[in-house]
Amino acid sequence: MPDLPGVSDGSGPSGWELATVRAVDHPLEGYVRLRLEVPGEARRHLAGQHYVVRLRADDGYTAQRSYSTASAPGDPLVELMVERMPDGEVSGFLHDEVRVGDTFELRGPIGRWFVWDGETPAVAFAGGSGVVPIVSMLRHAVGLGRPDLLRVVVVGRSLDALPYVDELRATGAFVALTRENLGSRVAAPPYPEELAPLVAGAEVAFVCGGVGFAGYATRELEDLGVASSAIRVEQFGVTG
Ligand SMILES: Cc1cc2nc3c(=O)[nH]c(=O)nc-3n(C[C@H](O)[C@H](O)[C@H](O)COP(=O)(O)OP(=O)(O)OC[C@H]3O[C@@H](n4cnc5c(N)ncnc54)[C@H](O)[C@@H]3O)c2cc1C
Repeated sequence: MPDLPGVSDGSGPSGWELATVRAVDHPLEGYVRLRLEVPGEARRHLAGQHYVVRLRADDGYTAQRSYSTASAPGDPLVELMVERMPDGEVSGFLHDEVRVGDTFELRGPIGRWFVWDGETPAVAFAGGSGVVPIVSMLRHAVGLGRPDLLRVVVVGRSLDALPYVDELRATGAFVALTRENLGSRVAAPPYPEELAPLVAGAEVAFVCGGVGFAGYATRELEDLGVASSAIRVEQFGVTG
């Protein structure tokens, strides 16, 4: 773990704070789930927001990346679910090296646009690791006793490659697998006739995933008549 001397400026959401890792597990291959304790303000996120993780090496070199939280608002810990990218600098470190009790810098919560308010009828369309902020929204909806307000569509290659798939299915999300059958559903992306009833009545649509997925999902929603202005996209694109 990088040495992090005196990094916490204690200035709240706009500043860096020191997060302590309270739990680490690998619920599916290629992913690590971290549950982080952070001082006061950083825990007060809205459903859909993200944090920035900054790693610092002993020689002062730093690397920072954005990660959405799956925690519902009010969860005392910030939960991250990070997919290990091939040769990924930050995701590789988080996946392979981080242990309970380690610390690193965290800044956030960030984002006012990709946020579900818990009141507006919404549809969320996520692919792969893009489910993370949608899980936060879903947990928020369940906590409010209004899971009916948020319809969730998730797309993954297979059940064992999709984070949170059991929780998503248990709370009524529609899951489309592209490389294996699911019950009687033959492997394929969601069909328009599967999406249409989930989109009906939604006043806002959240799309989250990689660059290719985000473009595909946005086009699908627009083809179903969702106004471009109602579609909010979070893209986990290639970092610069
Ligand atoms: C707002 C926001 C929220 C995010 N939330 C999450 C999250 O909850 N979980 C999560 O796993 N990731 C999330 N990401 C992506 C994350 O920020 C990093 O881009 C990712 O972890 C890769 O960083 P790295 O340092 O490991 O890879 P790098 O060292 O930057 O890159 C390694 C290799 O992977 C490629 N690569 C980098 N990022 C991606 C990507 N996203 N998709 C495909 N190839 C990539 C690079 O081109 C390179 O070839 C989010 C991104 C944003 C902008």
